[in-house]
Amino acid sequence: GYEFVFDDLKGLLEESIEAETGKHRSCYSKTVAEKARKEREFLPIHGYREELLKLIEENQVLVIVGETGSGKTTQIPQYLQEAGYTKRGKIGCTQPRRVAAMSVASRVAQEVGVKLGHEVGYSIRFEDCTSEKTVVKYMTDGMLLRELLTEPKLDSYSVIIIDEAHERTLSTDILFALVKDVAKVRPDLRLIISSATLEAKKFSEYFDSARIYLIPGRRYPVEKLFRKSPEPDYLETVIRTVVQIHQNEPIGDILVFLTGQEEIETVETNLKQRMMDLGTKGSEIIICPIYSNLPTELQAKVFEPAPKGSRKVVLATNIAETSLTIDGIRYVIDPGYCKINSYNPRTGMESLLVSPISKASAEQRAGRSGRTGPGKCFRLYNIKDLEPTTIPEIQRANLASVVLTLKSLGIQDVFNFDFMDPPPANVLLKALELLYALGALDENGEITKVGERMVEFPVYPMLSKMIVGSEKYKCSKEIITVAAMLSVGNSIFYRPKNKQVLADTARMKFYEGTENVGDHIALLRVYNEWKETNYTTQWCYDNYIQSKSMKRARDIRDQLLGLLNKIGIELTSNPNDLDAIKKAILAGFFPHSAKLQKNGSYRRVKEPQTVYVHPNSGLFGVSPSKWLVYHELVLTTKEYMRHTTEMKPEWLIEIAPHYYELKDIEDTRPKKKQRRSERASTSKVDTNKKTRT
Ligand code: ADP
Ligand code: MG
Repeated sequence: GYEFVFDDLKGLLEESIEAETGKHRSCYSKTVAEKARKEREFLPIHGYREELLKLIEENQVLVIVGETGSGKTTQIPQYLQEAGYTKRGKIGCTQPRRVAAMSVASRVAQEVGVKLGHEVGYSIRFEDCTSEKTVVKYMTDGMLLRELLTEPKLDSYSVIIIDEAHERTLSTDILFALVKDVAKVRPDLRLIISSATLEAKKFSEYFDSARIYLIPGRRYPVEKLFRKSPEPDYLETVIRTVVQIHQNEPIGDILVFLTGQEEIETVETNLKQRMMDLGTKGSEIIICPIYSNLPTELQAKVFEPAPKGSRKVVLATNIAETSLTIDGIRYVIDPGYCKINSYNPRTGMESLLVSPISKASAEQRAGRSGRTGPGKCFRLYNIKDLEPTTIPEIQRANLASVVLTLKSLGIQDVFNFDFMDPPPANVLLKALELLYALGALDENGEITKVGERMVEFPVYPMLSKMIVGSEKYKCSKEIITVAAMLSVGNSIFYRPKNKQVLADTARMKFYEGTENVGDHIALLRVYNEWKETNYTTQWCYDNYIQSKSMKRARDIRDQLLGLLNKIGIELTSNPNDLDAIKKAILAGFFPHSAKLQKNGSYRRVKEPQTVYVHPNSGLFGVSPSKWLVYHELVLTTKEYMRHTTEMKPEWLIEIAPHYYELKDIEDTRPKKKQRRSERASTSKVDTNKKTRT
């Protein structure tokens, strides 16, 4: 039961502290591996090993359903390896999330007793931790999709496990159809669809009535407390609930579900403050955040048990709902929200919106508290207000990337593709239109040479077109730097709360020189200056730049460089010709053009949509440029353009004559009629992200 698990893991922590001192490293890894190995026998799945293996041998496709934490992800690949499947090929296991792929692979390597990246490894975008030895490979679903491009029959695999199938991510849904086809031409291949919830029937039907196997889980009763109406300030309620549990409830760890890094950091700061205000008792709480951008070395901390007498508070995103199981959780606090991706085909805008979770998710979250003993779940909402299930991502995502992948795989008719749940036809159409505009598809919808080159890059089509397009403007060296910096996301500049002015001054230095340099060029300058210091961390500190993000940019750049070589684009440099660099950016991002309006806002050239310069942009608050190209739109209180650069309107005609006409860039005042339609369309912007509907 509960006590045993805790004491057992406590032993692990003491050893890991010793190991950190360096003295006992070799003996540490041996004992940890031994313990990890022993723990395998206590997992619910253990008793079903033989039956499972027999079923997998007898059925080419098997749907497995089991309670989260029963051992599906970590154990099934090991069982298969022990049974000799790896003699015929690798065992591939997909995960919707990168952190899960990494974390599970590291755990399994430990259980098997091998170094991560040797026999057991993982592969995620821009990071391949596998070697020739690797026989058990965890990877994101997106990576397996990419592998299909070079290995259409997955010849190097003997088993493919599509794990966390219930998550229904875009890549997982596409994989369903593709692996189903592969299985038909590879009778020796085994296919396992693994899920935590009861969508099993649907999976089984889709895979031609595949056999379903249920792994009975152990589940302790969970007491559910809830609020009749939602909380206006749920972060404050979270903090109060943590404190209340800590002061009144027996020992046991707390898991809080939040929507993202920002919320997690806010709760972490405020909770620490609250504990300090309450006196010395604060030291008894150990806060462990877990989210996808958390540095790898901190991710492991979430699995370390709290020292005796203290209580661990895990602040997690959805990742802890089913992907990762953290032992020792006895209390769950669930505000009932998550971030979901949504796409508006009309404007082409994609956004992450904080939305209410589904009933199915709510049950999963509550279940996390009753895995090793009776649990308690504090719901800050009323479950009656929730929808039964979440809409699969394929029905609410931009499909441009997916359509290009399918085309590259030789799938011509994307409308009649074997989707488990088909996406809206207008979204497919929009994807085809964009790919045609980018030159990736010809007028018959067939992939072009440009499209084939774009597919090589694991980034979305506009960005890959920018890279491929840089050949023409002889600035591929600069463009892959820009692409790498953009791919890192929004974490290059560091802006601590107490030093915002200093940080902003440091940032604006990268915009000096020729007027209105723009964010893309500034990112390029940041990278190049850092490179000149031989990639020092000190330079990053001095300039309010996040060194971790820079290192990641460097890794990504190295990979883009390799791909550039692969498709035969020469590395050319034109550092002083900013126009060439801007034109290459436009080669991919010409649909993202915007023109200044009288009132200081911008209007998209081809869409009746008003957009604004992002407050984090170097172009925010300076004398405005008339024409801008932007990287992406983000919706917060307004529709903001993130990463903008000045451009010349005639370039639009030069670069995309099939997309822009002279009248688009002519300097005429908008007619009255147009103005009105614009007002109507902007008034619909949903600024209240947290409304429950
Ligand atoms: P399932 O896939 O059925 O949800 P898993 O195989 O992920 O179950 O989990 C089985 C066990 O392995 C759990 O007790 C979990 O805590 C443990 N585990 C998984 N990953 C790690 C890790 N990185 N560190 C420590 N324990 C882990
Ligand atoms: Mg799992």
